[in-house]
This record gives sequence, structure tokens and C-alpha cells, in this order.
Amino acid sequence: VPPADRATGTDHPLAPAGEAGLARRVLAAFRERTGGEPDGLWRAPGRANLIGEHTDYNEGFALPFALDRSVVVAVRRRPDDLVRLSSLGVGEVRLRLADVRPGGVTGWAAYVAGPAWALAEDGVAATGLDVVLGSDVPVGAGLSSSAAVQCAVALALDDLAGRGSDRTHLARVVQRSENVVVGAPVGLLDQMASLHARRGNALGVDFRTLAVRHLPLRPADAGLALLVLDTRVAHAHVTGSYAERRRACEAAARVLGVPALRDATPADVAAAAGRLGDLLPVARHVAGEDARVLAAAALLQRGDLVAVGPLLSASHASLRDDLAVSCPELDSVVGAAAGAGALGARMMGGGFGGSAVALVRADDVAAVTVAVLAAARERGFPEPQVITVHPDRGASRLRLPAS
Ligand code: ADP
Ligand code: MG
Repeated sequence: VPPADRATGTDHPLAPAGEAGLARRVLAAFRERTGGEPDGLWRAPGRANLIGEHTDYNEGFALPFALDRSVVVAVRRRPDDLVRLSSLGVGEVRLRLADVRPGGVTGWAAYVAGPAWALAEDGVAATGLDVVLGSDVPVGAGLSSSAAVQCAVALALDDLAGRGSDRTHLARVVQRSENVVVGAPVGLLDQMASLHARRGNALGVDFRTLAVRHLPLRPADAGLALLVLDTRVAHAHVTGSYAERRRACEAAARVLGVPALRDATPADVAAAAGRLGDLLPVARHVAGEDARVLAAAALLQRGDLVAVGPLLSASHASLRDDLAVSCPELDSVVGAAAGAGALGARMMGGGFGGSAVALVRADDVAAVTVAVLAAARERGFPEPQVITVHPDRGASRLRLPAS
């Protein structure tokens, strides 16, 4: 990941560019750079996760939703073996088709070449490509700009090959791209959300069966708002403790004698406390988090979003105290939001930075924002970005805007 990413003008845009505006900019840049028309435009959103953290790789449950911020790509297949990739405000990379493989490409270009490689492995004939992408998903903020880039490219190449693959199948292809070409041991949550989500809904995912359910999540209808609180502290996935937590979870499942922690209830974990030893907190987090996701899903189904608030706060406490993946900056935004009247707030993603999500009354948005900024200032932390988000639809092909 090139450090330049954080220095470009593309990170942390204050306002969403809007899909149409973004599509027009991407199309104009494509025409300028290639002197021709793309085969099409596709978009894929970033995601937030209402609840269900560190559950995907334990075959458990989560409730992500797609953001109203996305990556738009213009793609054209080429008759030769040139692969020209450019990202607005980030840069341009030229490759040969032979470089589109693990180890052949690094930096941001791996997120574009990765899906091309993974789809080739899946039987899509590899061709040269012209790709131009633009995005209003904050980068490195735990909102999965990485999945948005890869899902947009994967959907484009799958469509251009005339396959119309099942979205869950595409999610696995994108996971392979990120695991193998980028080298990040990510689960399936981000890709499932970006590919399957529906506007005004959260996506209930069962990571054992990969079955999905759409559950109403329309905060404005209930006089509420969903806020993303970006700490501006970069999270680190590729290295670090994410892999360590995964190993601890696998070890805990072995001690419990179950295929995955998904199969253990909080009571099972408590009863095995002695045997689990040091693994107790990790197992307690996952079993508890799965139970909270199922409770939240039932509440959404009933239309009782307010009652989801305390589950979010319990999730944060568990991630902080049991899984130990929070950090002072995340605790600060979550604590400040709660102190200013949020119904609930929790860190999202792998941990150690990135963003939190808060559920607040619409009338309290301003007070929560002020409190979050003040708390960071007081502690000398980077200034957080507070973004109101609206659950939006998953990846799709876009119509070419009229020029
Ligand atoms: P997150 O997924 O939380 O945003 P990651 O570190 O997983 O953070 O992915 C961020 C990386 O994805 C960036 O460093 C960059 O390599 C790539 N990326 C994301 N958005 C873009 C973009 N608009 N243009 C080029 N690369 C991007
Ligand atoms: Mg990512």
C-alpha cells in the first residue's frame, strides 16, 4: 500500500461526490486518457457494519450495510496485452498481462489487477485492459474502499465476459484477489456487503452458509441517523494482530470441540472457562457477538431500531475488553458519542484504527459531532471525520451518462 494514498486529495472527501458526478468525471477521464469510449461503467459501494465484528472468519453472523459512497470504474477490454490502470487523483500504472498475477503487481494497482487475476483463475479469459476509476469512499478508514475497488472491477469483468455470475460467487473471487494478490487475510464481510446490499436495508449474512437476508434499516424513518466516526488513524490488516486473532479463534474452537466458534453459545463458553484459559476472552467475544447480531436482526425485522443501540455499545465493550482490538482513538469517539446521547456506538472493522459507527437521534447529530471532535482535540488525537451515512444499494452497472 503506497503511503502516497493518504497524501492525495482523494482520501476523506468531506462530501460524497454523488454517483452521477463521479460517473461523469470517470467517463471524462477515460475519454481523455484513452481517446475512446469504455465498454461500460460499473460501481460498487464501501460498507459499514452495524454489528457482527470478527465473526465472519468464525462462520458466524454480521449485519453490514452498503454506504452511499462508491467506486466507479470505466473499463474497456483491449486486443493487446497492455493493462493501463488509472485512479483519479492517485496515479497511473501500466502493466503487461503477464504481470497480472500474485507478486507481479504491488500498491494500489493490485486492487485492480487482483480481481482480473482471480477471475482468470475462475475461467474468464484474460485480456488487456484500460481501466479508469474514481471514488468517494474514504481510503484506509475501515469503510472498505479496498472491497469497493475490487468488487467494481470484478463485476465489470464478469459482465464483460457475459457471465452474470452469482454475487456470492463473485464475493469469493474478490476475497481470493485480496488474500492472494494483495496479500491481506480478509474474510468475506466486505465483499458480501458491497455486492449484495439493498438500499434502505442491512444485509444479514450467515458466514457458514453464505445465505443473506435483507432487513429494513431506514434510520431517517425513525427520526434517527447513522454516523460513521472516522478516527483518521490508519488501521493495518495486512500485517499485525488480525491474523493473530484468527489463530486464537481457531484454537478456542478446537478446545471447545466445535468446527468453528459459531457453534458455541455464550453459555458453552462460560462452562468451558477453565479449559479455555487465555482463550476465554476471545471465545466470549465471538459467541456474544453472534448472539448480539441475531438479537439485532430480530429487532430490525420488527422495526425497533432504537433497541439496537445498546447492542452496539455492548459490542464495543466486548471488542475493547475481550478481543482487545480497539485503540484509544476509537474508544474516544465511541465514548464521546455515548456521552452526547448516542443510542449506541461501536468500533467497526479489524480494529486498531479506522472508523466507528454510531446510532443517534437525528436531533442529536450536531451535539454528538461536537462532542466527538472536542474529545479528540482534548486528547491530542487527529481530528475525526463525522459522516452521516444512508444504507444504499450494492454494486451495479451504470448507464453511460449523456455527454
Ligand atoms: P480500507 O479498505 O479500509 O479503505 P485498505 O487498506 O484495506 O483500507 O484498502 C485501502 C487501499 O485500497 C488503498 O491503500 C489503495 O491501495 C486501494 N484503494 C482504495 N481506494 C482507491 C482508489 N480510489 N484508487 C486507488 N486505490 C485505491
Ligand atoms: Mg480494506
